[in-house]
Amino acid sequence: MASVLESTPPRFTADDVAALTAELFGLGGDARDLGSERDQTFLVEAAGVVKISNAAENPANLELEAAAIEYALRADPDLPIARQLRSATHQGHVVRLFERMPGRHGGPHLSDAAVRAYGTTHARLARALRGFFHPAAGRELLWDLKHAAELRQHLEHLGDRRRLVEPVLDRYEEQVAPLWPALPAQVVHGDMNLGNVLLDEHGFVSGIVDFGDSCHTAAVADLAVAIASLMRGRAVDDAFRAARIAVDGYQSRAPLEQAELDVLADLVATRMAAIVTISAWRTARYPENAAYIQAEDADSWALLERWDPEQWRHELGGARLTVPTDALAGRREAAVGALLTNLTYDEPVHVVRGEGVWLIDDAGRRLLDGYNNVPVVGHGHPRVTEAIVRQTRTLNTHARYLYEPLIELAERLLATMPGLDTVMLVNSGSEANDVAWRIAAGVTGHDGAVITEHAYHGVTAAIADLSPEEWPPGYVPPHVTRIPPTLELGPTAPLAATFLDAGLTSDGIRPATAERAQALLQATHDAGGLFVADEVQIGYGRSGEGLWMYRHLGLEPDLVTLGKPMGNGYPVAAVLTRRELVERFPFAGTVFSTFGGNPVAAQAALAVLDVIEDERLVAHAKHVGGLLRERIRSLGHPAIRDVRGIGLLTGVELDTPERARDVVNRLRADGVLVGRTGPRDDVLKIRPPLIFDEPHVELLVAALGASLH
Ligand code: PMP
Repeated sequence: MASVLESTPPRFTADDVAALTAELFGLGGDARDLGSERDQTFLVEAAGVVKISNAAENPANLELEAAAIEYALRADPDLPIARQLRSATHQGHVVRLFERMPGRHGGPHLSDAAVRAYGTTHARLARALRGFFHPAAGRELLWDLKHAAELRQHLEHLGDRRRLVEPVLDRYEEQVAPLWPALPAQVVHGDMNLGNVLLDEHGFVSGIVDFGDSCHTAAVADLAVAIASLMRGRAVDDAFRAARIAVDGYQSRAPLEQAELDVLADLVATRMAAIVTISAWRTARYPENAAYIQAEDADSWALLERWDPEQWRHELGGARLTVPTDALAGRREAAVGALLTNLTYDEPVHVVRGEGVWLIDDAGRRLLDGYNNVPVVGHGHPRVTEAIVRQTRTLNTHARYLYEPLIELAERLLATMPGLDTVMLVNSGSEANDVAWRIAAGVTGHDGAVITEHAYHGVTAAIADLSPEEWPPGYVPPHVTRIPPTLELGPTAPLAATFLDAGLTSDGIRPATAERAQALLQATHDAGGLFVADEVQIGYGRSGEGLWMYRHLGLEPDLVTLGKPMGNGYPVAAVLTRRELVERFPFAGTVFSTFGGNPVAAQAALAVLDVIEDERLVAHAKHVGGLLRERIRSLGHPAIRDVRGIGLLTGVELDTPERARDVVNRLRADGVLVGRTGPRDDVLKIRPPLIFDEPHVELLVAALGASLH
């Protein structure tokens, strides 16, 4: 592997090279030695840069370099790469003439802007080489961090200081090498350090030279080389600050995978270990070239002396230190406790990841999510997460500018709701209901509201009054009439609006029937009010009866509100209504919500609609929900008083609230998450992502049966 590093570099003088350039290429003037590790490099006036290769160099490697340069320039013609102009052979040495690039060598103290741009340029180069292949790229170079374990054979040259390098290599072998086969790999430049670029007067890269270390390896190893170079000459804190800015620049063009971020800090340390080790070995062998060889040693040693693997990884990979659940719960209580709702379950669920119908806790335990309706297409659905990430990279702004995703979303929603023609995009179900309430009150000139007994519609001041589920004892807003789950509305004062969640979720999951809901709508209109179908909870296919339950019930509401599952967890919500109503709303044309319908929110919502369609989740919800209720009923347990619901919204009424509480906690201990609802909190609420499938039903029902005994 070390053959070229071991063989003596060529030893031509500047005069030799000036003469040679004239002879071989018919060009040139004075030559000046630029220094090199294993070759010789000269600047020859009026010709370019002349590189005389080591006689031991395999010609295939030089072909690889030339081909890589040409390929990268085809992929990204604006990259400032020095082209190879000519090539000839002289006394067994390949002599190549390269384009002379503008700028000068500089650094390591670049401005933050230059550091960021360095990362960006590097990422462009890496991307430009992504599709490149050459058989010689499989060569083994000691500088390639893939082979860092081989550095051990040279540690003897470090004397005492090998104690600073050995632990870095130990960690590399334990933590990085096993992951190597799974890291994204490609042909890379291999040595994007400051010595191989030219900089303009602002420190921005104006030339990329020396593909002499290009090979096929992990892309993040190539990045580590650049990062180590940019960290040089800075105090540790500032070095990491600069490193993070460079990584930002890199990721603006070539986002890293988590696995790459995880190993980056260790690779940076390994690169520094490689610099000092190879340098010590080669200095012993070629003392006359010591100045060139040792140029980066001091800075590398200074950083290696401050090496702390966990801290470096935290600084560079953003890894969070794991916090014990008890301590975290204590901090939650201390920092946010008073207003925020309590944690669910006696033993808090400390979640770190979600995947499909599973939530994964801090101990890596998988909990079956039978509770959360927001991740309607499953936790972390790739279509949705990618839509969010891609749009975030491209553009995120607000609805005072014209952009397509918002309009497309509005049109897609309207197409599912015949009779409605106007959409307002907001950020939460509460905000949607608040806007609906303002429209209703503004248009009717009334302030009376009708809701079900134990309804929940949201958290704003106006909507909290319409959410008796959360009312403190004795709180009774005078303008609000509560009706039972049978939806019977007696004579009432003039109304602004009736809000109905047709699943009657917080009333204990007692889905409305068409007849009762239609009668309520009629009674609302008779009282001069508007009817709001709150589909925040029951919409998006949960009912298994089309996307929207109000349509299944044959209602023609004046307003429809959407939220929760709409962005699969990304905040996005909507109010849909008729233009004719909005035009009578005194605040028409002035309602704006900064984040409402932003491009990212809109893309998330579009992706959710697509996935629900592609995966046929509405029909699936109907089938699996039906099976779930049937299987729970078949448990035949005396504590189960009723099993009811629609689609993937199921309520299991138990004999006492204490029993419900106990069952919920036992299920949680058993790795199954469900909730509780109803005026007496005696109803199990089972409301999973719509991808919940038959095996999940069996798991849940088995656990439920066990928890009841
Ligand atoms: N309406 C209904 C029927 C809801 O279930 C909820 C939330 N549970 C809301 C409105 C309020 O939505 P958000 O929490 O997004 O404000």
